[in-house]
Amino acid sequence: MVKRLLEHGYVSRPEVSLAMETVPRHLFVPQELQANSYQDSPLYIGEGQTISAPHMVGMMVENLDLRRGLKVLEIGGGSGYHAAVMAEMIRPDGHIYSVERIETLAAKARRNLQDAGYSELVTVIIADGSKGLPEFAPYDRISVAAAAPSVPEPLKEQLAEGGKLLVPVGGRWYQDLILVVRKGNEFIQENLGGCVFVPLVGEYGYRE
Ligand code: SAH
Repeated sequence: MVKRLLEHGYVSRPEVSLAMETVPRHLFVPQELQANSYQDSPLYIGEGQTISAPHMVGMMVENLDLRRGLKVLEIGGGSGYHAAVMAEMIRPDGHIYSVERIETLAAKARRNLQDAGYSELVTVIIADGSKGLPEFAPYDRISVAAAAPSVPEPLKEQLAEGGKLLVPVGGRWYQDLILVVRKGNEFIQENLGGCVFVPLVGEYGYRE
């Protein structure tokens, strides 16, 4: 799986390919879809939600410029897989706060992360992540795995100086992946290209 991501250029940093080789994706995939765990496609995880395709996780992790020791906020924890890959990048002294709005998915993500050995590095929180997570702000990096109508203002405010935010922005069915870099009170945006995510549902996202 990782070889294919390298060949297609989704991933180029050795640290990212190593992180993706290390995290056992099958531990985050439901029982009935086990055979598809290492295919490069999104998979259904229940509650109408999906675990992102490996190439999208690789591309996001690569572009978020994750390094050891960083404090990261993830919005849309889903299965916990993406959080585990990020945990490999920031370990042993960084931390991932992963926000998920659906309780059953958050409970499953906690279990998956524990089984895979990441419970010390990742805290799963049940909340509307479109408002960010002010309790632990500011964050060095913010990774949003659900599509927003525009860049949620609270997420920009919760970025540390020099911090980076990745968020899919656009319509409900098709979006652009936007990278935002904070320089003082300026927010520099770059469009990394098209993507498809489930909607971010909440105060600064879409209505249910
Ligand atoms: N990163 C995940 C995939 C995320 S799918 C993985 O690796 O499995 C997107 C997730 O965002 C879904 O689980 C959905 O419930 C969640 N979500 C949608 N709106 C949200 C919000 N406002 N706050 C937190 N989570 C949200």
